[in-house]
Amino acid sequence: MPSPAASLAEHAPCRELERLARWTTLRIGGPAELFFEPRRPEELAAVLDALEQRNLPWRILGGGANTLAPDGGVRGAVLHTGMLRRAFREGNRLRLWPGVTLPALVRGAAAHGLGGVERLVGVPGHVGGGIAMNAGSAEWGLWDQVLEVSLWDPRAAGARIVRRTRAEVQPRYRDGNLRGAVVLEALLELQPESPRTLRARMEEHLRRKNATQPVTLSSAGCAFKNPPGDSAGRLIDAAGLKGARAGGAAVSELHGNFIVNAGGASAADVRALLERMEGTVQEKFGVRLERELVVWPEPLGGTIGAC
Ligand SMILES: Cc1cc2nc3c(=O)[nH]c(=O)nc-3n(C[C@H](O)[C@H](O)[C@H](O)COP(=O)(O)OP(=O)(O)OC[C@H]3O[C@@H](n4cnc5c(N)ncnc54)[C@H](O)[C@@H]3O)c2cc1C
Repeated sequence: MPSPAASLAEHAPCRELERLARWTTLRIGGPAELFFEPRRPEELAAVLDALEQRNLPWRILGGGANTLAPDGGVRGAVLHTGMLRRAFREGNRLRLWPGVTLPALVRGAAAHGLGGVERLVGVPGHVGGGIAMNAGSAEWGLWDQVLEVSLWDPRAAGARIVRRTRAEVQPRYRDGNLRGAVVLEALLELQPESPRTLRARMEEHLRRKNATQPVTLSSAGCAFKNPPGDSAGRLIDAAGLKGARAGGAAVSELHGNFIVNAGGASAADVRALLERMEGTVQEKFGVRLERELVVWPEPLGGTIGAC
């Protein structure tokens, strides 16, 4: 008897039991039962439709630069945006597929004399993940440049593909507010500027980042969002947690808000360290830290079938 997932690979290339550690910047994560790499936004939407129709669990993964993948892997499908890398220029606007990498966006925009995204220099990940996280700095996020997105939205009535403007989505600090929708395409509005000015600004941002962040170690960026009027890194540092360890996971000595994989870390190690950081900061300062790192839960068992 064919498995219920037998024809899913008709929609997009699919592999079985793909180790997620290969696809996350923390280098952590067990196997995804099914791992799809759609080549066009329509393929991504078609796989999502097929998975929903069959009531199968799925998750979407960009550059894995803000995600803790579980040691036990993912029961169900992971849709990776790595093959969705096309970008189209329309005057001062860029139309981007979700797998365009943030470094390629920053470099490409500067080379074309388009400013607005240079604060993302040194930030790994994909455009879809950047929009989901509203990646950026304390005072700026990628959504500040987004005019509209095309989303696959399981909550939309009728056809699930919808266009949404920034005003409709209402993104917040480090939260694209997508509420389960998937970015298929994004339209960014940038400002013409000289490539030389942009490069100088990028170098300045990069110098600052390289001096303050553990950029040569495996991490997933900031573990926590900054609480209003304060900095999570400052609180973690003041709580005496720099260098604290749980198994192979450690709080960076350079930046208190970065957890690094100091060698052989598991997702369980990272979760234990996150809990210790939350508990200590709450106890010492009465501040409840909110996680920025997206923590996928450990699977409960079972299987959904094959590609
Ligand atoms: C060294 C380092 C420095 C960093 N510096 C910064 C920084 O300065 N500022 C900052 O904001 N972040 C920073 N980060 C974190 C990270 O780079 C950003 O959050 C980035 O936007 C993550 O993108 P991604 O594609 O890797 O997302 P993933 O980790 O792949 O995914 C993150 C979330 O987005 C969802 N998602 C992914 N793709 C889509 C899609 N197409 N549609 C809908 N949802 C999707 C995922 O399901 C997940 O919930 C840093 C990380 C590292 C390792």
